[in-house]
Amino acid sequence: MIEVQKLHKWYGDFHVLQGITESVNKGEVLVICGPSGSGKSTFIRCINRLEEYQKGQILFDGKDILDKDVNINDLRAEIGIVFQQFNLYPHLSVLKNVTLAPIKVKNVPKEQAEETALQLLERVGIHDQAHKYPAELSGGQQQRVAIARSLAMKPKVMLFDEPTSALDPEMINEVLNVMKDLAREGMTMLCVTHEMGFAREVCDRVLFMDGGIVVEQAPPDEFFKNPQHERTRNFLKEIL
Ligand code: ATP
Ligand code: MG
Repeated sequence: MIEVQKLHKWYGDFHVLQGITESVNKGEVLVICGPSGSGKSTFIRCINRLEEYQKGQILFDGKDILDKDVNINDLRAEIGIVFQQFNLYPHLSVLKNVTLAPIKVKNVPKEQAEETALQLLERVGIHDQAHKYPAELSGGQQQRVAIARSLAMKPKVMLFDEPTSALDPEMINEVLNVMKDLAREGMTMLCVTHEMGFAREVCDRVLFMDGGIVVEQAPPDEFFKNPQHERTRNFLKEIL
């Protein structure tokens, strides 16, 4: 579904992604971990073109995402992203946050968009908050709205960039549970996270990044039991 071939990116002189080659199959759940500054966010942001890259290729369903006839709004609808800092529209109600893009970008009729939004809010456990504003919700609730908002575009792939890092500990699980449900329902997911319980429970592969490359990767059992590289072992020692 996603094929990344020899991806390189520079910020000015800084070679942030130094040749990443990966493929992700439909329904696969990847966890990406690694030290701060290793390029995890940059990597996943390239996949829905939130970042430019200078060398290599990314194919989505067999098609180069930089192809002239790829519409960037369509691409971002098909590859949703959830950020650490929720990024909800503060001046819009929860319901409007979730219906805005389907109405504007996909021309979904308002009633239909609202019906879908309410179903999604139900699915993430906050349908009773639909008419509140983001500031009236807890962090965990806001993050679940952000997930519902992405799902409203009916994405084929979901990217998560440390979705629980900004949350108080007691709210982490409510967001992880939504992500686990999604994973079990067969969503294709790339999750930058240091929540290793999540990795153990639902992911198919863990990727360890350092210095702009994928140093190693393995199914979670193997990854945690038998990390191959010194750098991986040191990293795991610090976070586990
Ligand atoms: P973290 O765990 O802290 O989120 P990360 O692995 O997600 O780290 P990135 O955000 O991808 O790392 O950043 C990788 C490197 O690129 C860092 O050294 C960072 O300082 C640098 N970088 C990121 N964004 C920019 C930018 N817009 N301009 C210049 N350098 C940047
Ligand atoms: Mg990051």
